[in-house]
Amino acid sequence: MDRQQEFVLRTVEERDIRFIRLWFTDVLGILKSVAIAPAELESAFSEGIGFDGSSIEGLTRVYEADMIARPDPTTFQILPWRGERQGTARMFCDILTPDNEPSLADSRNVLKRALAKASDQGFTFYTHPEVEFYLFESPTDLTQPLVPVDQGGYFDHVPRGTTHDFRRSAIGMLESMGISVEFSHHEAGPGQNEIDLRYADALTTADNIMTFRTVVKEVALEQGVFASFMPKPLVDQPGSGMHTHLSLFEGDRNAFHGAGNEYELSKVARSFIAGLLKHAPEITAVTNQYVNSYKRLWGGAEAPSYVCWGHNNRSALVRVPMYKPGKGQSSRVEYRALDSAANPYLAFAVLLAAGLKGIEEGYELPEGAEDDVWELTDSERRALGIEPLPQSLDQAISIMERSELVAETLGEHVFDFVLRNKRREWDEYRGQVTQFELQKFLPIL
Ligand code: GLU
Ligand code: MG
Ligand code: MG
Repeated sequence: MDRQQEFVLRTVEERDIRFIRLWFTDVLGILKSVAIAPAELESAFSEGIGFDGSSIEGLTRVYEADMIARPDPTTFQILPWRGERQGTARMFCDILTPDNEPSLADSRNVLKRALAKASDQGFTFYTHPEVEFYLFESPTDLTQPLVPVDQGGYFDHVPRGTTHDFRRSAIGMLESMGISVEFSHHEAGPGQNEIDLRYADALTTADNIMTFRTVVKEVALEQGVFASFMPKPLVDQPGSGMHTHLSLFEGDRNAFHGAGNEYELSKVARSFIAGLLKHAPEITAVTNQYVNSYKRLWGGAEAPSYVCWGHNNRSALVRVPMYKPGKGQSSRVEYRALDSAANPYLAFAVLLAAGLKGIEEGYELPEGAEDDVWELTDSERRALGIEPLPQSLDQAISIMERSELVAETLGEHVFDFVLRNKRREWDEYRGQVTQFELQKFLPIL
């Protein structure tokens, strides 16, 4: 037993923890949990806990249903919303096959593989997500319009607003679980909030995002409201994005910083951005995985629709934030397509793979866009070489289907599962007759 595992056993005893939840994530990014008693911990560390993988989205085919979850002791945390006494803790798990091999269907493992590849080239990948979400009065009937908890807007201070208490409580819980929060504020939509997590290595951030979604849902329930990470829940209001800041470090040095260059960007950073841009259309089915995601991407309100980069340009897909002199260590780029409903493990893996490809192949960075690209005409955009992002899940899947980069990064099993699952979602969606059609056409046709 290693020291981390011993620490977990000791803490469970000293803090009188009664349940340990083992967490893992299915291929669609939904958190799964199984609780074990403290007496089971030792064998969970040595052998893992067996479960039926065929009931979990994307995990196994039915004829190889036995899977093993083995907890990662470095992720041990006590769940603050379960109370101080006789409490509950959690650990994230790696999923193994019955032969103790890492499961090819485990999203966490997909990201670990991508990170190992970066590490072979001397890079550590850091991410820092800005997570947006809505708070609604708890809907009892989903055919009725959603009611946001307030009418606030960007950075509004809503007096006695639900969202202050909400953010304070959620942030308190996150901090007590070792997740640092940098900023939080009311976002542009009514009842919309944003909480930005401090940057960390990408595996930690992906775990933190999974915890974040759970904490936000729990605090909302506690306060009698309903939290949603749906990319575009309201027709006339902004969607919820998860803009993510990305950087590569070589040892202690930020590899994106190039003193004296334009925007202080190193050659590594420029090729990384070029990689993101070139491969953006093929990774979009992963970064924006639902039919609803495309209503955000094409619904304006500062969500990107076109493939270009810019310095402080909020209409661009990739934004290079303002450089502050002497802050070379904080050089980074912001990828703005990602939404709050993505599977963070898979999304970070494909973003990293796209950027690394740019570095490996020495892609040249095209000219930055300093205009508001939404204001340009189609032919102006074409003249500038600015392509659109996929406009629907259907288009995104068709582009991903042909992508060697995504197939290689996700591995064959996850790649096939995502394509099949998303194709099914699209077919189901395409068959719907919507309220919009009835209202528009029934009176005249
Ligand atoms: N809500 C916007 C989006 O969907 C982002 C607003 C902002 O710039 O933070 O991407
Ligand atoms: Mg925002
Ligand atoms: Mg942002």
